[in-house]
Amino acid sequence: MRSFLSIAADSSFSLQNLPLGVFSTRDMPTKRVGARLGDFVIDLAFLEAKGLLVTPEVVFDHPDLTAFMGLGRKVWAQIRKSLMALFEADNPVLRDDSAVLARCLVAVSDARLHMPAVIGDYTDFYSSMGHARNVGMMFRDKDNPLMPNWKHLPVGYHGRASSIVPSGTPIVRPCGQVKGNDEAEPSFRPTSRMDFELEMAFWIGKDSELGRPIPISQARDYIFGVTLLNDWSARDIQSWEYMPLGPFVSKSFSTSISPWIVSLEALAPFEVEAPEQDPQPLPYLCSTKRMQYDVELEVLLKTSRMQRFERVCLSNFRNLYWTMEQQLAHHTITGCNMRRGDLLASGTVSGMEPGSYGCLLELAWGGTQPLTLKETGETRVFLEDGDEVMLRGWCQGDGYRVGLGDVTGVVLPAQKD
Ligand code: MN
Repeated sequence: MRSFLSIAADSSFSLQNLPLGVFSTRDMPTKRVGARLGDFVIDLAFLEAKGLLVTPEVVFDHPDLTAFMGLGRKVWAQIRKSLMALFEADNPVLRDDSAVLARCLVAVSDARLHMPAVIGDYTDFYSSMGHARNVGMMFRDKDNPLMPNWKHLPVGYHGRASSIVPSGTPIVRPCGQVKGNDEAEPSFRPTSRMDFELEMAFWIGKDSELGRPIPISQARDYIFGVTLLNDWSARDIQSWEYMPLGPFVSKSFSTSISPWIVSLEALAPFEVEAPEQDPQPLPYLCSTKRMQYDVELEVLLKTSRMQRFERVCLSNFRNLYWTMEQQLAHHTITGCNMRRGDLLASGTVSGMEPGSYGCLLELAWGGTQPLTLKETGETRVFLEDGDEVMLRGWCQGDGYRVGLGDVTGVVLPAQKD
């Protein structure tokens, strides 16, 4: 499958991908839905108005994706098929109509990307065994790092939706209450343990009813697609505040996401069997087919003295112990309802090997093993002002990629007063 547009083989945005997002341009500041193909954003609102994409109601001339989400899984897949067909190499409809083609394609450099949906609720899980093990070893028990519940349910906490920002938004170093191990009392100061967390998240595309759990067998119908996510964390604030109810202000100051949502249809060729679970969880968390996705994930870092980003972590989404379906089944088991636009994140995606750890806390092992950056020889245990973090993710197909785009953010100095 090839497009008449030329798309580099290593582009994250092949014809097989077509992720959706919300954009505007200087000439047309109205927010509307677009799809990404190569270095272009396809204006879906325009194609819809032209009758080239047929939907039962106007859904793309809309400042977010919730109207389109409301049409359901079958229509999501149909629209994806129609869009693919429109840009296929041997389809003349757009290829040979230069006026219409010029109008529906926006160079990505001319597009401003916005939040894909209004996020009602945001939840962050803790689904990677590598991450849970490492954090448990550092803060609890070296020989018995996993909490007794960890293999029985996908642990999570309710995060804050209001501070989720699109990629590129600078992150101001937060101030908060910190108490070092050698200090008798806490004090108020800028965090000195600023960290990133490499995560993937999925968007809820279908409302569920209050009081009715989503059975694991139907969970897929509720998953609209996935996005890359950086769960910025202030580790010193976190370690003082987290007991007994979990992280609070140490995580809620900012969470960054890539502006593109990749569909489960685009990820389907990269399905792999999920890791076996021992012990087997309770029946509501069991399904006949337990699938995970083979998505390469990496973290790159660039200090203010560096010219180029340098990779500090290479991980993979398939490492996760708990699947998205299990997370969703567990989240709703007591009757909690889901709403379109809700966002559920995986938790830090760490593998079991050191180079695959998805946050600095693990990479520099709690500050004891500084990371050296090759370009300048600088070392890091946590993020410093001016450091820029980039997350990237992609599935490697035969001659093409289905990528998640990237999530960037630079750390700005703490605000004085
Ligand atoms: Mn997290």
